[in-house]
Amino acid sequence: MGITKYCYLDGKIVPVEQGRLSLFSSGFKYGAAVFEGIRAYWNKDQKNLYVFRLKEHSERLLRSLKLMRFDHSHTVESLSRPVIDLLKANRFREDTHILQHIYVEGPGVGFMGDTGPTKMCVAAFPKGRYSDYEEGGGIACCVSSWARISDHCMPPRIKCTANYQNSRLALLEAKTNGYDSAILLNSHGKVAEGPAACLFIIRDGIPTTPPVSAGLLESITRDTIIRLFGETLQLNVDVRETDRTELYVAAEAFFCGSGEEVTPICTIDRQPLGNGRMGPITEAIRESYFGVVRGEDPRFSSWITPVYDLKDP
Ligand code: PMP
Repeated sequence: MGITKYCYLDGKIVPVEQGRLSLFSSGFKYGAAVFEGIRAYWNKDQKNLYVFRLKEHSERLLRSLKLMRFDHSHTVESLSRPVIDLLKANRFREDTHILQHIYVEGPGVGFMGDTGPTKMCVAAFPKGRYSDYEEGGGIACCVSSWARISDHCMPPRIKCTANYQNSRLALLEAKTNGYDSAILLNSHGKVAEGPAACLFIIRDGIPTTPPVSAGLLESITRDTIIRLFGETLQLNVDVRETDRTELYVAAEAFFCGSGEEVTPICTIDRQPLGNGRMGPITEAIRESYFGVVRGEDPRFSSWITPVYDLKDP
């Protein structure tokens, strides 16, 4: 297992001990921060580390910066480059999770409404599976008593750190009550997503997922899974409003996200889905997903960015 030696802060790669933020930063005081959670996968045959859909992560970060009205002059290139440089500096040769934040540093003591100056920091660390479950099984979810934030209060479609207080409340409630995770309904009582993942259910052999307008993050993995269902399994995804009661009668369900990858859900509110094990469609899409992110499927090579030049590591 590798260790993290370096992080990126404000234009420089520095030893992790030097990755410190000011007590006065609005990012800390008021949650004035936006971020991305990105994965890079080690391909042991090709001896390279591949960042998955880095361009799309940078594009979403630009949307987050715009929506939160942060001062910046970033481009896809200026956001992507530090991620690659940091992975190289740490010489990772294993699956890695990357957290890239842009926050309002603010001028000195500052005010809640400061929009700049902004700074970028990136942290990367070796990371295997997020949720713990036995192979062939999956996780136990509840339907949360917390509603997913709505677009007329907070912007669910982007990744601003403040949104994650909603996710934390749902996750902590679920854990306190003995579940692994939660499914949040939106303020109209329709299915939205998990605390840090989108949701698919399988009904009558058809993969189904709520629309982004149901209060979802504009998830890169959700988009990936929709594409992979069509192009690798020849299954069209039904993107539609989903009722709570459909969760209980679904044959299969899974979470997806950069961190969560594809995580099977075996029970919801203690009711087993199907036979209470990972279902065959979930298994097939999971396999397809892992092949693609690791750079083993040439049809999707435009989604991966190699970290090392071939002569590098
Ligand atoms: N929803 C939420 C609330 C999330 O935090 C995440 C993780 N970023 C996802 C969905 C999945 O998004 P992505 O596939 O872009 O990682």
